[in-house]
Amino acid sequence: MELNLPFDPVERAAESERLVLKEGKRLYYRFRSAPYYGGIATADAIGCSFLCAYCWNYNRNLNPQRFDKFYSAQEVSSKLLKIARKRFFHLFRITGSEPVLGESSFNHLLKVITHIFQEKPRSIFILETNGFILGYRKDFIKRLKFPNLWIRISLKGKDEDSFQNISGAKKEYFLYPIKALKELQEQGIKAWPAVMKDLFTEEEIGCLKKLLSEYSIKSELELEYLERYPFVLQNIDKRNIQLKE
Ligand code: SF4
Repeated sequence: MELNLPFDPVERAAESERLVLKEGKRLYYRFRSAPYYGGIATADAIGCSFLCAYCWNYNRNLNPQRFDKFYSAQEVSSKLLKIARKRFFHLFRITGSEPVLGESSFNHLLKVITHIFQEKPRSIFILETNGFILGYRKDFIKRLKFPNLWIRISLKGKDEDSFQNISGAKKEYFLYPIKALKELQEQGIKAWPAVMKDLFTEEEIGCLKKLLSEYSIKSELELEYLERYPFVLQNIDKRNIQLKE
């Protein structure tokens, strides 16, 4: 994919969706059990509206056209359910990508979630998202009313400049993920923000918390920590981002 920084994430989401969705099937490259959250059935997908400096799936998200394994929602949920039954897991997620790029990816996601809850009603699906399209297309949010759907929105910056530098997306889109959080909260859907702690000082984290409180976001800010793969450190360096610890 041609990509100059900063890019328009609306256009990038649409272009990514065009590449990673085919007749309702989405590109995935792995299905696995993962240790996070105490054990979770995980599908690794491809395609994102952002291109974060610290993304551990950077090259796949930059060049999705190199991959060709498309899976239907039924195939994805069946694979995840098989892993969960084998490992006695109750948690499910899709990661490595942005699940919501537009209408087609959103419909695919809803089918995966619906099938999992039909088969295992007491399970929890954790939607890991950058929150951009959910803030841009707030009409999607009312379709996310599942009792056991939890939504974790990974915020990329504390302000417009850090957002642009870290996510690669134009700074004017900074507030959309925060708007998504606010709307989710207003709709009574469990959602919380997360941020990559290694990229911010305590003071900067304090600024972000203050901004969230100005938007009346009540849920706690989760701090995540960087997987320091050599290519991740190189990408961070290329954008002149200093690690804070
Ligand atoms: S939002 Fe997540 S999946 Fe997308 S580029 Fe950033 S870290 Fe990678």
